[in-house]
Amino acid sequence: MLPIQFRSTHFYYALTYVVVTFIVLVFLNVYCAQISQELFYNSKKTSMIEKSNMVASEIANLNTLNTTTVSNAVSEITSLRVNRLIVTDNTGNVVFDSNTENSIVGKFALFPEIANALEVNNVFTWSYSKGAMRSNAATPIIQYGILTGCVYISETDSAQGALIDSLQNNIFMITLILEVLVFLFSIVFSTVFTKRLRRIMTSIRVIRAGDYSHKLEMGGHDELSVLGDEFNELTEKLQSAEKQRRQFVSDASHELKTPLASIKLLTDSILHNDMDMATVREFVSDIGTEAERLNKMSQKLLSLSKSETYEEEEYEIAYIAPTVQRVVRMLSTIAEEHHIEIVENLENDCPILIIEDDLYQILFNLVENGIKYNVPNGSLTITLSRNDENAIIRVEDTGVGIPEESLDSIFERFYRVDKARSRKSGGSGLGLSIVRGLVIKNRGEIAVESTEGKGTIFTVTFPSFDTEEEMR
Ligand code: ADP
Repeated sequence: MLPIQFRSTHFYYALTYVVVTFIVLVFLNVYCAQISQELFYNSKKTSMIEKSNMVASEIANLNTLNTTTVSNAVSEITSLRVNRLIVTDNTGNVVFDSNTENSIVGKFALFPEIANALEVNNVFTWSYSKGAMRSNAATPIIQYGILTGCVYISETDSAQGALIDSLQNNIFMITLILEVLVFLFSIVFSTVFTKRLRRIMTSIRVIRAGDYSHKLEMGGHDELSVLGDEFNELTEKLQSAEKQRRQFVSDASHELKTPLASIKLLTDSILHNDMDMATVREFVSDIGTEAERLNKMSQKLLSLSKSETYEEEEYEIAYIAPTVQRVVRMLSTIAEEHHIEIVENLENDCPILIIEDDLYQILFNLVENGIKYNVPNGSLTITLSRNDENAIIRVEDTGVGIPEESLDSIFERFYRVDKARSRKSGGSGLGLSIVRGLVIKNRGEIAVESTEGKGTIFTVTFPSFDTEEEMR
């Protein structure tokens, strides 16, 4: 059973189409009818007033107005085709009536048109009923500037009436047919449209239920198909995020499992075996090492999640060299232990906009790796330089290098080229993924080049921030 909104959307679409087109068609109907009647009215008015003027000017030449004189005068006007012609004197007394059957000669004509014309006006009136158009016109007869009577003509035109009738009927029929078509079309269209909407809704439900592999097939080239593509892209991202999340949870628990298992093993050995104090000490020291590893790992996991949350943090304009020097100071003891020489080329420093803590962590991880994966009596060189747009940090070591096939993977979480070596040096496989996260967060880029057995170069670039230029 579909939710009510579905049907109502469908219904509203159909209703909107029908109502809108209905209003438009009614408006067109009324407008057309009015225009056509107006056209007929104007042309009829002109022709009728012309005719009555013609008769009036003909009669104006007569010295006396009576049935005979008017009849003679009118008979000369051949183009006059009217149903009735009445001529009155200036008192409204009828002196001529073309209707011989119901003649009103000798009577006063009580037509409003005649009364109006005797007040020296040209008059036209019309009425329309039962398919016939009846039009009347009256014109005063003026002789030497004096009103001597008036001419009244009347015409019943069923041909024009029929034309108006058929025009209105046709418009009405067309309106009716169009309205039915619009109704059918709106039903079809809204059904198709809501069907596609329903498809989107179904897909959303499928995704919500956890099936991220689901693809929405929209078809077409309209906004809905674009929406479908966007939707699919979104689900792809969700799918990969979900995959990463699962991978991360499984990797993290696997990583935590190893030191925890070692601790358990060592404690069991101490508890269940008789051992001398020296061995116990050794075991407890191993437990301490494993605990330290767990501690480091949890700290790194925290850093990792921090590098991926874009909270409001303090960006500042800072030179890179002081942070490099701080990192080198911190790691100098380890470097000495590994017999690694650290060389600093920090002359071409420039300011960048950065979160200083992030810069410290980036440099710390890279320099620490350069020491850890180096060879005895090797060296590590840190060089600062700049080009037009960027500040460039280069951390180059003379260490073991990274095999080419691993270069793409080293920034992945928990990835280690040599697990044993990394573990021995307290590595967790998280350092470089933290570095990459922080570099991206600070709008920078990181690249790596390496030759196995020769060494590795990490290059980090940040957009330079030239304070002086900015202030100018
Ligand atoms: P780890 O904690 O294992 O050092 P990282 O994420 O920092 O984790 O590094 C991932 C892997 O990349 C390391 O295990 C190591 O194999 C390799 N690697 C990183 N830096 C270097 C380097 N400077 N020289 C050689 N190998 C490196």
